[in-house]
Amino acid sequence: MRKPYMRIPYTDVLAAPTIIPKSAKALSGAVAALQEFLVAPSSLSPSSSGTRPYTAVLTGAGISVASGLADYRGTKGTYRVNKTFRPIYYHEFLNNHEARKRYWARSFIGWSTLHKAKPNASHFAIKHLNDLGLVRGVITQNVDSFHSHAHPALQTIELHGYLRSCVCISCHEELPRDGFQNELARLNPAWDVFLQEILASGALDTENPDERRARGMKTNPDGDVDLPGAPYTTFRYPACPRCLTNPPLTANGTRATVEVDSDGAWAPTSSAGILKPAVVMFGESIQHSVKAAAEEMINDADRLLIVGTSLATYSAWRLAKLAKDQKKPIAIVNIGGVRGEDVLFVDLDPNQQGNQGIRVEISTDELLPTLVEQFRSSNVQTTREAPNYVVKTQGASVFKDMLS
Ligand SMILES: [Zn+2]
Repeated sequence: MRKPYMRIPYTDVLAAPTIIPKSAKALSGAVAALQEFLVAPSSLSPSSSGTRPYTAVLTGAGISVASGLADYRGTKGTYRVNKTFRPIYYHEFLNNHEARKRYWARSFIGWSTLHKAKPNASHFAIKHLNDLGLVRGVITQNVDSFHSHAHPALQTIELHGYLRSCVCISCHEELPRDGFQNELARLNPAWDVFLQEILASGALDTENPDERRARGMKTNPDGDVDLPGAPYTTFRYPACPRCLTNPPLTANGTRATVEVDSDGAWAPTSSAGILKPAVVMFGESIQHSVKAAAEEMINDADRLLIVGTSLATYSAWRLAKLAKDQKKPIAIVNIGGVRGEDVLFVDLDPNQQGNQGIRVEISTDELLPTLVEQFRSSNVQTTREAPNYVVKTQGASVFKDMLS
């Protein structure tokens, strides 16, 4: 069986969608179709009799654009404005001290942008759809933690992990990314000064390398910053504190070596104690427990609402395909084309008004809050208990290079 490695998604622009139903081209038509989609009786699940059908939501980078984060393929997406974008692969991170310095230098600069960003109207609309009993679970490809901030009571499966933590490759201890940022600042004082300067300049408010350069942030052709007197090859990062205190056993039963320099930075003489972001990097497998919980959520759902993703990553596409194979209605709200979407809508009755499937191309932060308003004004209520999909998270976990 093929292992579910994260692979580099398509980077080309996908074909424009066919809107379904045709009335969903306008906002009012799209809202009406989504209302039909969310409340239509399920033809599949006996559990939905007498209660609202259970809708699972699958989200991607598009839902976070209104929070100021770049998506991949939108008009200001990473792949369009930053041609030098090159994410790190897991094997590079694991095996190469130089690659880790580069990663953490870029991450150090990018963290403040992510850290000050907040969930937007779309995330809160999903919370309200849950309050109305219409949405019972979220699977997200995003690593920004916006879903869990906006709706902590609604189960969110973070398919590709989360940037809010670092995790030790050796002992799987998790540490908050905030504290790690402070350590990076302490170990790299010249970079800390630089970060404060470019934050003040506004250069980090854009992902466009030309605009950044115009605001004084010079990058080399690979998109890296090299400071005069402090190139990223000198960047330092801390060791796992737990492994430093108690070096782990290696596979052959010997004690690993974990060493640091006089300031506490991980030393290349070490054989363990490397911290990585708690995200699934390209080339890394998604944890089995996370994958299984996401599949279970799809299995239990009556229908799937897909928001702000082109399904370019295989892990997301296969969940949509799973729902399709189970003959569940699918709605897609995304600006721009979606991978394989013709397959997802191939057998719809041309006269259906949303109960069988929907394809809408309207921004989510406009559409979803309007949808919630419509439901509220029509007094939709329900009382169904939400199931709990347990994700036993330990260790590995995604990746959008927030720092490109
Ligand atoms: Zn450790």
